[in-house]
Amino acid sequence: MPTERIALVTGANQGVGKQVAKELAEHGVTVLVGSRDLAKGEAAAAEIGSGAHAIQLDVTDPASIASAAGTIRERFGRLDLLVNNAGISNTLGAGLTPEQNAAQSTASQASLDEIRAVWEVNVFGVVAVYQAMLPLLRDGIDARIVNVSSGVGSLASNADPSFPYRAIFGPVYPASKAALNAMTLAMMIELEGTDIKVNLVSPGFTSTALNNFAGTESVEDGSREVVRVALFGPNDPTGTFTRWEDATIPW
Ligand code: NAP
Repeated sequence: MPTERIALVTGANQGVGKQVAKELAEHGVTVLVGSRDLAKGEAAAAEIGSGAHAIQLDVTDPASIASAAGTIRERFGRLDLLVNNAGISNTLGAGLTPEQNAAQSTASQASLDEIRAVWEVNVFGVVAVYQAMLPLLRDGIDARIVNVSSGVGSLASNADPSFPYRAIFGPVYPASKAALNAMTLAMMIELEGTDIKVNLVSPGFTSTALNNFAGTESVEDGSREVVRVALFGPNDPTGTFTRWEDATIPW
């Protein structure tokens, strides 16, 4: 009998994270449904069903991260899969499409407070969770980290004038994903020579709260690449940056 796989998905109470948690659970993975609001995490875990367990986790709160790591150590003694999915596009309030968000957050107009707030979740939050969970991943079986980025953060794509999303590249959300990509590269390089694998993925343009449901893909379709990579086995690759299906995104 293979040992059950233990996974943590951050920001799994809704959207892409919840879909990933659901499909992991359907594949027999024990999933910790990370949620900054525990009640929302519990509701999502109950909806997903057996194999899903809520865990309070605000990626900007060191005490919350330490407590989650302690709980995972106590209950499972290890972590086999970490999906860094939690993310925000802005703090200006719900109801902004990417175009509206971009129009308010050009390099000359974006407030530094807004840049810091978004980077706090999308960049520093991921690094903080990585640092706290790495000892558990080192004790994991065929451990893997999947960081959820976005094609709009690709510096190589945005350097090309023909890239269709180039007009919305700005210092808040898109640059936060570029920074996340850089952090992911740092993790990959640090973990070369260990058994821990690291992958970077972009969902499709998915209808979620992040873009005020302007995304053109369903949560099921948009989350497909994240799910596919999160279900990778020990012989599957490390160091990739892909969108559905296995299409390489330039860094
Ligand atoms: P979503 O439905 O808004 O979900 C975002 C999740 O992150 C929510 O569970 C949210 O919790 C959580 N979160 C926000 N701040 C947090 C914090 N400080 N600590 C812990 N969790 C926090 O958006 P989504 O589209 O599913 O986004 C998931 C990931 O996909 C993000 O990294 C996003 O950048 C990426 N992505 C999305 C698209 C797209 O088209 N939707 C495209 C490319 C990449 P609350 O419910 O409490 O707010």
